[in-house]
Amino acid sequence: MASFAQTDEEVFKSIYKTTLTNGKSYNWLNYLSNQIGSRLSGSLGAEKAVAWTKEELEKLGLDKVWLQPVMVPKWVRGAKEYAYIKSSEGKTTTVNICALGGSVATPALGLKAQVVEVHDFEELEALGSAHIEGKIVFYNRPMQPDLIQTFEAYGGCVNQRYEGAVQATKYGAVGVIVRSMNLRLDDLPHTGSMTYNELPVEKRIPSAAISTNDAELLSAMLKLDDALEFFFRQNCKQFKDVLSHNVIGEIRGSQYPNEYIVVGGHLDSWDLGDGSHDDGAGVVQSMEVLRLLKATGIRPKRSIRVVLFMNEENGLRGGNKYAEEAKRKGENHVFALESDAGGFTPRGFSFDCTETTFQQVLGWRPLFKPYLIHFFEKGGSGADVSPLKTNTNVLAGLRPDSQRYFDHHHASNDTFDAVNKRELELGAATMTALVYLFDKYGVNTMPGGLKN
Ligand SMILES: [Zn+2]
Repeated sequence: MASFAQTDEEVFKSIYKTTLTNGKSYNWLNYLSNQIGSRLSGSLGAEKAVAWTKEELEKLGLDKVWLQPVMVPKWVRGAKEYAYIKSSEGKTTTVNICALGGSVATPALGLKAQVVEVHDFEELEALGSAHIEGKIVFYNRPMQPDLIQTFEAYGGCVNQRYEGAVQATKYGAVGVIVRSMNLRLDDLPHTGSMTYNELPVEKRIPSAAISTNDAELLSAMLKLDDALEFFFRQNCKQFKDVLSHNVIGEIRGSQYPNEYIVVGGHLDSWDLGDGSHDDGAGVVQSMEVLRLLKATGIRPKRSIRVVLFMNEENGLRGGNKYAEEAKRKGENHVFALESDAGGFTPRGFSFDCTETTFQQVLGWRPLFKPYLIHFFEKGGSGADVSPLKTNTNVLAGLRPDSQRYFDHHHASNDTFDAVNKRELELGAATMTALVYLFDKYGVNTMPGGLKN
């Protein structure tokens, strides 16, 4: 039990020991991934996950557990996609694709057209309608392998997937194929969100991701045969928005109950795998934070909430709704921490805060050293917590090792077996330790901060 006699070092030890010897996060993830499975917004899986996580949080003896209603988009993939490359001589080679989230279907019998390969929107513009009209645009800019922080490589590529269709439509393209956001070469297509902006429905062109191996193949074949054709068929469909929920649990603060600390991840996932890394890991780690606070006898001074956000992947509706409600109720959110970068070995945190506050946070770094947590940098936090940003509060994101994350991200191999139990638990403990410090000491910008 934590007591006033315990040093921070001792509390840290107790947090890490409790989760590594008697943690719940891995069992929770097993259930979420293998019994419930994928949780695309508006799906049955998503609704099952809402009901089940609420039930599990209720078992923890928190002060309050509730559901926050939020309307979410509902997009359904339909039958498995099919695609092939057809050479000028008529030889066909099947390739692995998947529809991008939010894409329209192809005509029922599929879509076949010649292909123009580009690497960015400038190249697209330079080619113009003369070369693009009536063709499929193939975006093939790979993730940059020499960027050590792989999220930067993702950030440098993802516009092809997200706005590729909108850009290609300007020049009369009939479809879009985008290289999967994956650093390695394999056969798995990776889905993800895309936009049509304000394009009317009849102008929307079908868009799909192709595996990295098949992107290489298509590119190589185009060099030999630029009149080849690409065929694809997909049956996805956008429905009307449906009602879903954020799941919230709270431990009431003993001293400053009106100062809120949030820890969270997103409950929805893509539909190809079971969303174990993205973001089942963040969900169960966040649940484990509140469980660990109780299990180690920490009685927080501030109110601690776990928020399991709905619809990060294709809309951010849950994150926006939570922040909107917090603002409406005048709740003072002093600190929010998100885990949404995979369940891999934690390295540290990225902090979205002022320089003065960051210097204070850096003072805590030595406490984390025995746990090999050393990465403390200023930067982004997490998509779901980002709408909570104010001029004074602190947002943070857990930063696990990211080298293998994009092997799995939004693909069919984002499954339970890809998550290591100890790595997952170390992440949960690391999050709990940081929440403990923010609760105990606060920072200069927190009304109850530095009062100790
Ligand atoms: Zn995610």
